[in-house]
Amino acid sequence: MPKPSATSAAAPPTKPLSGPQKALRKLGLDRPIDLALHLPLRYEDETRLVKLRDVREGELAQVEGTVRHCEVRITGSRQLLVTLDDGTGTCLLRFFTFYPSQQKALAVGNQIRVRGEIRGGFAGLTMMHPTFKPAGGPLATALTPVYPTVAGLPQAYLRRAVDAGLARAELVDTIPSVHLSQIGLQPKWNMRQSLSFLHHPTPDVTLATLQDHSHPAWQRLKAEELLAQQLSQLQAKRERAVLRAPALTTDDALTLSPLPQGDGSGHPARQPLYERLLATLPFALTGAQRRVCEEITHDLHQTVPMHRLLQGDVGSGKTVVAALAAAVCIDAGWQCALMAPTEILATQHFAKLVGWLHPLGIIVAWLTGSQKAKERREMLALIASGQAQLVVGTHAIIQDKVQFHRLALAIIDEQHRFGVAQRLALRGKLVDALEPHLLMMTATPIPRTLAMSYYADLDVSTIDELPPGRTPIITKVVNDARRDEVVARIRGQIAEGRQIYWVCPLIEESEALDLRNATETHAQLSAALPGVMVGLLHSRMPVAEKRAVMSLFTGGQMGVLVSTTVIEVGVDVPNASLMVIEHAERFGLSQLHQLRGRVGRGAAASACVLLYSTGDAPRLSETARERLRAMAESNDGFEIARRDLEIRGPGEFMGARQSGAALLRFADVVADAGLLAWARELAPLMLDQHPALAQQHVLRWLGGKAEFLKA
Ligand code: ADP
Ligand code: MG
Repeated sequence: MPKPSATSAAAPPTKPLSGPQKALRKLGLDRPIDLALHLPLRYEDETRLVKLRDVREGELAQVEGTVRHCEVRITGSRQLLVTLDDGTGTCLLRFFTFYPSQQKALAVGNQIRVRGEIRGGFAGLTMMHPTFKPAGGPLATALTPVYPTVAGLPQAYLRRAVDAGLARAELVDTIPSVHLSQIGLQPKWNMRQSLSFLHHPTPDVTLATLQDHSHPAWQRLKAEELLAQQLSQLQAKRERAVLRAPALTTDDALTLSPLPQGDGSGHPARQPLYERLLATLPFALTGAQRRVCEEITHDLHQTVPMHRLLQGDVGSGKTVVAALAAAVCIDAGWQCALMAPTEILATQHFAKLVGWLHPLGIIVAWLTGSQKAKERREMLALIASGQAQLVVGTHAIIQDKVQFHRLALAIIDEQHRFGVAQRLALRGKLVDALEPHLLMMTATPIPRTLAMSYYADLDVSTIDELPPGRTPIITKVVNDARRDEVVARIRGQIAEGRQIYWVCPLIEESEALDLRNATETHAQLSAALPGVMVGLLHSRMPVAEKRAVMSLFTGGQMGVLVSTTVIEVGVDVPNASLMVIEHAERFGLSQLHQLRGRVGRGAAASACVLLYSTGDAPRLSETARERLRAMAESNDGFEIARRDLEIRGPGEFMGARQSGAALLRFADVVADAGLLAWARELAPLMLDQHPALAQQHVLRWLGGKAEFLKA
């Protein structure tokens, strides 16, 4: 199993790195090819000089002229003021920081070349902090690249590093030219030519084609990148296909010494657990649940490890599907693990699964970080002996000390909350070189375009139907100034015996602030609602306290639960019918949708109030308004996800998976759908007919990161 840490592979540096070298590291620019693929954000045109007569405000201009005047102004903020004259006009140069040497270079009478943005104003044309050098030097023959950078890494240093990388990088072509002609790329635009051009375009290029990435050199890069992504995922899929997982059929169970089935006889119960569970559930499965159960069961019957994503909107009933998958596994005589991202969520799963499975004689073990040592030891023993057929818990499940007797199925809830490394670790719990089957669940549906590119290696099952009898949630967007009305509404709901969630945003820069906000709201609501139990739940509370608060709310004694986003995922209290989200403008769209999914689980009409505040601004930002509008207009997770993708772009949307895997830097899955389709088709062909080239291609683009895609 590869170490999923990017730094572990790097040799210890022999001498300490300089500041800029460290910054290069930080940007991931280690290999020559990484530098060569670090493409400019934009370009500056230093290939020509313009006359001051012809410049326009806002334009970046390069001008040569004579210094007519130079003085240090001391009144107000200290600054160096220089007047430049090029024979057609004058321009004032302003410097707020400057060294004596610079002042000398700008002495009256000197001929200089300056570059900067032209501004207007009552002083006439002005440039703030232009770059300058003596006049008369040669002009650049290509546009000057401006690279994305970080503090401590000057452009000039980065430019030299990129040029050196470009010169040293191995850039042989890995895509046979017949395939390139399919997307209209001429042989001229090979990798070396394309990269050289993108770093130093000739001045005759139409800048627009560089900006909108439609230039053939850009097309080449995007095609390369998409192919690398498809290749690595296909490779991962094929590698998995040769791995072996236990086929979870009941026939096998007879040959592979079955685990005790609870009746103590040592024989599998006559009726499979799967059937018994279905028969005892208090509801019938929806059509969509039945379909995904069949898809999953089919996979579990194979000896190829399952690698499936189960997506379904909040409240669509994924938990019971997980339970049925576990039943298939247990019926076959193997163990199943279910891992959830938070303790609260794991607790809820545990309670639900124990409620369903315990009466059927199944032992469910429980593992979390906060567990008492004694209980933990007992659980570990149950797991190691195989007596516990199902293990539910948090990250604690993947710790080294946890030894499964025979793990065959790992279920990960809210998979986007887990890092890739954690998923790898779960797969690392191998038994006799057999891989466990993997079922990942998510309530954030992935739009088709993203699924095709980022999740090409994954099989997807979708629950596209909610259980019957749900009443749609009414969503209202309300200005925080009308908070009193909202509190009045809460009072009404409480009088009807309902419960309310009040969510305060997590302020990322400051946990302390976030806590204060929640604490204040809690105090306010407690005062405004005498006789009502108002609870507080926040991320820094000790687990035991969290659990106590949750059980009061779940039990119905607590009327209002004020909380930071800890209730974001998976909490299930059907009697809660109103959710108030404070500072809704600070939340992402998918996050809001997840939160809202906590209500509308019972038969009562449910509502969600999105309180927003504009702070000091006169109105909300356009994106914030768009988000809130989308929430009010739609209850459909897929629609919301689609809008979220539009508003945020794939980068942020992807969450954890991007951290280790290849996030597309150049291509855009929506705009470059044509190239994506081409890459999808080409990838299997490359792997079959040109395996060495394919390997080289993936290595170039992904380096060590390709491993992550296997998770
Ligand atoms: P999610 O997909 O968000 O994880 P849950 O699994 O928590 O959803 O299910 C939401 C609620 O719906 C639970 O109370 C669950 O018991 C209930 N439920 C699930 N499937 C059905 C069904 N087919 N009919 C009625 N209720 C169901
Ligand atoms: Mg859930």
